[in-house]
Amino acid sequence: MSQDKYIVSARKYRPSTFNTVVGQEALTHTLKTSIASGRLAHAYLFCGPRGVGKTTCARIFAKTINCTNITADGEACNECESCRAFNEQSSFNIVELDAASNNGVDDIRELNGQVLIPPHTGKYKVYIIDEVHMLSQAAFNAFLKTLEEPPEYAIFILATTEKQKIIPTILSRCQIYDFTRITVPDIVKQLERICEVENIKAEPAALNIIAQKADGGMRDALSIFDQVTASSEGNITYQSTIENLNVLDYDYYFRVVECCLTGDVPQSLLIYKEIRDKGFDSQFFINGLAQHLRDLMVASTPSTKTLLEMNEEVSERYVQQAAKLPAGFFYRALDLCNTCDLNYRNATNKQLIVELTLVKLCQIMVPTPAPVATPSTPPLRKITPPASQPTPAQAAPAQAAPAPTPTSTYAQSIPQPQVVSEPQPRVMASEHRVKPQAQAISSRIYVNKKVSPANEDKRPETADTKGVRREPFTKEQVLVAWKQYIKDHPHEKLVVSAMTSSEPQNESDTQYFIELTSQAQVTFMEGSKPAIMEYLRNAVKNDMLALEIRLNESKPEKKIYTPREIVEEIKQHNPQFKSFIKDFQLGLA
Ligand SMILES: [Zn+2]
Repeated sequence: MSQDKYIVSARKYRPSTFNTVVGQEALTHTLKTSIASGRLAHAYLFCGPRGVGKTTCARIFAKTINCTNITADGEACNECESCRAFNEQSSFNIVELDAASNNGVDDIRELNGQVLIPPHTGKYKVYIIDEVHMLSQAAFNAFLKTLEEPPEYAIFILATTEKQKIIPTILSRCQIYDFTRITVPDIVKQLERICEVENIKAEPAALNIIAQKADGGMRDALSIFDQVTASSEGNITYQSTIENLNVLDYDYYFRVVECCLTGDVPQSLLIYKEIRDKGFDSQFFINGLAQHLRDLMVASTPSTKTLLEMNEEVSERYVQQAAKLPAGFFYRALDLCNTCDLNYRNATNKQLIVELTLVKLCQIMVPTPAPVATPSTPPLRKITPPASQPTPAQAAPAQAAPAPTPTSTYAQSIPQPQVVSEPQPRVMASEHRVKPQAQAISSRIYVNKKVSPANEDKRPETADTKGVRREPFTKEQVLVAWKQYIKDHPHEKLVVSAMTSSEPQNESDTQYFIELTSQAQVTFMEGSKPAIMEYLRNAVKNDMLALEIRLNESKPEKKIYTPREIVEEIKQHNPQFKSFIKDFQLGLA
């Protein structure tokens, strides 16, 4: 297509019939039916987000009701004199007013004057008022009169993105149509049609990105599409699209989740660095990761897969990764990302808070390690990158660990004792290098064994030769640690709520259980169990401590009082309080 004839896609591919409107099938069907049956209202209100076809539908509606030769399908013929006038934008039977820029009472008075003039040709005059919520109060009032007693031939179509700002007197006089966001697959399909017409090659994943970026608006999708097309020379690839739109490749998120699966902390931190190096904001990354986890969660069950807004090819990848993860993982991982997002703004060391979140994410799936312990000196544990060969030390399942890079930062600022091997990673001293080949791996780190609050007393730990701790402990200690965990993790709201609702009971010295009242809580707690067990075992210095999470649906849920219920409760037991409320007219009664 040559430059002088260039028309933006949003205009070139603006639908001219109801059937070609994308993603609003139910609504266009109703409009067609009402035209066919001749039951036309005098006022319509089209509500919905920007760029989803409100004005387009209003124009098609105006054209169709004036068409002298409506097709059997209920569409405008696009051939009669009236249709041609509409298509050439020369019809006098359509008046469009943009209330965003013409919102004064004078503009409406002028419109009211125009309404009095009957159509020269055709049956109806259609007045489209765009962004009608922008009208001033006086303009609204002036318009109301016309809306109450319109001439036979006048039809008003009011369009707005903010329905809640329309006064009830107007709402009650309109037939209301709610336009919905256009789904990603619908947008992709439309883009594919355009590609075919324009002879453009496009990867489905690229069109998917464009559709996602458009956030439900066709007009935005088409202008983004134009932007990408302009620099793609007829071949739209996924890679060129994400570069053009400055979108983070979702491949990064897939890789981070792979790290969570294998407990590969170092790799997750390296991926995060790569993302930073590309110039992406850390909070953007965490939110993107949360969105990815959410998408995986909905992809994990067939019933919620429909919530996955992406085309088949891309969604298949989500389904595959989701299949590897238990439901509990998603809840806990989403909670961690959410906490990170909430704390991000106030964090002094923003990079650290993201890294710490990654560390925790990588620990969800990793089985609770049996820590290596020796009676006198705190043992050092080795973190190895995934590529290295297994060594005896590595074979011990102790491995959750911080990054290979910013060691000193880690040593000082990991705030919570939940992480397995914190908080003092040290670069391996040379005398600790047992095997020559180990020297080749620069990122090896030895980590001092955990210092949990309960470790502060200096009694030597009882541990067997394999490093499994077997210190005797009491139920009291378990309960104290349980409560301390709740206290230390206020942001993990769902965990805290489950832990608060049920205290551990024991069946033997080391066998404990809790009973929860809903399957959702059980699933969630299962996901968080590794971290909790790590914490509890450290607190009692016994790796044999076990916790079973049981579902007991018969157990009544702990009553949660609303403020009103509390007031009622006090009133019951304290009559003076009642009169106090009354005397002071405290809106509590
Ligand atoms: Zn026609």
